[in-house]
Amino acid sequence: REKNWQEYCSIYNQYVQFYHDEILKNESLTIAREYLKKRNLSKDEVKNFKIGFVERNSNFYEKLKDEFSEKVLVESGLFYLDEKKNTYVERFRDRIIFPINNISGQPIGLGGRTIQENSYSAKYINSPETPFFKKGSNLYNLDLARRLSNKIDHVYLVEGYMDVVGLSKNGIENVVANLGTSLTDRQILMLNQFFEDIIICFDGDESGYKAALRAAENSIKELQPEKQISFLFLPDGEDPDSYANKNGKANFIDFTKQAKISIHQFIFNHYKQQTDNNPSSMAIFEKKLRTIAATIKDDFIKKYVLEFFLEKISSLTPHSNIGKKQFYTKKVKSLQSTQ
Ligand code: ATP
Ligand code: MN
Ligand code: MN
Ligand code: MN
Repeated sequence: REKNWQEYCSIYNQYVQFYHDEILKNESLTIAREYLKKRNLSKDEVKNFKIGFVERNSNFYEKLKDEFSEKVLVESGLFYLDEKKNTYVERFRDRIIFPINNISGQPIGLGGRTIQENSYSAKYINSPETPFFKKGSNLYNLDLARRLSNKIDHVYLVEGYMDVVGLSKNGIENVVANLGTSLTDRQILMLNQFFEDIIICFDGDESGYKAALRAAENSIKELQPEKQISFLFLPDGEDPDSYANKNGKANFIDFTKQAKISIHQFIFNHYKQQTDNNPSSMAIFEKKLRTIAATIKDDFIKKYVLEFFLEKISSLTPHSNIGKKQFYTKKVKSLQSTQ
């Protein structure tokens, strides 16, 4: 097992280094270089995040097969068997690759983005789960972001690799991303080890909103004294990368200060929007909030969140439900306007 881990690390190190050098030095990779330029990524970001590019016809398997067994190369998830040709091929061919490091900075997985617009293949793929790479136990960029935790008390949690890189380019480096799956308890606890406040900032669209609600309901149970979880909802159609590139660092920080809401306020406001001012609807509303509060593990937090919910309910004024149209904008507006 220890030997497998050593080999796994060595394979990932060689792979990441090779394709990183390629994108930096191989001038014939014009399409990939144009793509990075179009996405506003300069050499600095490519180096900082050790971004690479796997050429369509490249086959690094051939270079590794003398040093490693077939079994361990397949286990890395970087290659798979093309049964028709009976050869191993690269999983990430024709993709920009983002190394996913463990907390010590060792690459243990990859995210890969296609550079073809309107491609039939998925926009993003990840390395498959292996004994050494569990998506729910890792966060993209935590190895770099955690170094800032002696100066900065909060961290942004975003959806994607490009959001991390885009914010970082704009001077906001306390950012991590979860890896295309729902947020896990483990990830929340890892972040809270380093940062007091986790600011969840997903995409300003319907799926980002739904992911935020799921994250809120799941992570409120881990809330601890002295720690906070907050939410930041971007304008409709923006993600952290696009927003930061348009508006810059100062604006992003101002926007955070003025628009972020606490996890309990978000949950309360969300369910309030779905509630009509009649006893049956109100009953469901209160039950839902009590059920959520009851999941909180820390007894003191549980007590105060429940008190917060019940006080808010008792001071409610008549309001109306919102429709399905303009789902995201309306929801976010009414989140911001409620105190
Ligand atoms: P880009 O990252 O190029 O700006 P985007 O912002 O449109 O594209 P989204 O569709 O918003 O990308 O996806 C956000 C993030 O979710 C991606 O960066 C990626 O990390 C993750 N993701 C999306 N689809 C997948 C997938 N099929 N498998 C794994 N992760 C995915
Ligand atoms: Mn999105
Ligand atoms: Mn994006
Ligand atoms: Mn996005």
